[in-house]
Amino acid sequence: MKITIVGAGAMGSLFGGLLAESGNEVYLLDIWKDHVDRINKNGLWIEGLSGDRFIKIKAVTEPKEIGGTSDLIIIFVKSYHTESAAKNISPLVGESTSILTLQNGLGNLEMLSDIFGSEKVIAGTTSYGATILGPGRVRHAGIGSTIIGELDGQITARIEKIACVLTKASIKTEVSNNVLGLVWSKLLINVGINALGVLIRVNNGELIKGKYSSKLQAALVKEAIGVAEKKEIKLIHQDMVKEVASICEKTSANINSMLQDVLKKRKTEIDFINGAIVREGEKLNVPTPTNQIITNLIKAVEEAYQKQI
Ligand code: NAD
Repeated sequence: MKITIVGAGAMGSLFGGLLAESGNEVYLLDIWKDHVDRINKNGLWIEGLSGDRFIKIKAVTEPKEIGGTSDLIIIFVKSYHTESAAKNISPLVGESTSILTLQNGLGNLEMLSDIFGSEKVIAGTTSYGATILGPGRVRHAGIGSTIIGELDGQITARIEKIACVLTKASIKTEVSNNVLGLVWSKLLINVGINALGVLIRVNNGELIKGKYSSKLQAALVKEAIGVAEKKEIKLIHQDMVKEVASICEKTSANINSMLQDVLKKRKTEIDFINGAIVREGEKLNVPTPTNQIITNLIKAVEEAYQKQI
């Protein structure tokens, strides 16, 4: 399969590398020139859970360097770059191109559907994890389930084929008929963990040990459940508050991705996590005061990066 990864940072490089190793024609498209140059010169270095090695793979900064359309495009930019990245890749999108988003947060599949048409877009979630070590180098840091699906819930030949290609690349992938429920359930997990972890500066396990942090977590998730219910989303777990607490327990040593961003003074995906719950709540008349406050607090932290003591 001819595959282009748009946003070849931590996750894009990991998925691209694994897909190239299993025999696909893979292109990494990223605006980070040092990273692209290093990959073309030395290969992509992946270390960690799947072994330490260089992988030969082509990286580019412009879609025109790829030549022709791709069968599959996987979007792995941060959510705040989805729109600008997507608007740049029309030369890669042909009649039979599928565009897959495995990003965190709400709004990516909607943005991609607006730009390319919803029939081209497929979505999913992944528990794989990766970290960028420097230009041309990533660490494979987490292995878990990857689940993908058509937006209308149909089990089509193309979704099964893409799951098969990912599984062959040792990214074990299942197909779901409720991908919206899946994306929202992952969103609710991020809603309950990420921003709270930043503000209290603790790993996931500590969030459920504290009396006040547990209460705040439950409040954030309950508001998001209210929004999901109003949208008639079928969440994957009956009790999402309990599920989020249980994920904290299972991943107790984990430093969540928003906390990692803040520790490096990078922009966070807050607008697509708690901020998205606030926006959807406003549209549907569902109050989300705790998510509103926590969104503003994270934005205040971001705007004070250069002035912090
Ligand atoms: P990252 O910051 O490491 O990588 C994003 C890459 O996108 C960067 O290399 C950046 O240069 C590139 N980029 C920005 N604008 C671009 C554009 N216009 N065109 C092409 N490339 C562009 O991010 P990440 O950690 O790999 O996360 C990507 C997404 O996956 C996020 O939504 C994140 O929440 C989600 N996710 C991450 C992990 C993880 O373990 N890192 C796990 C699951 C999901």
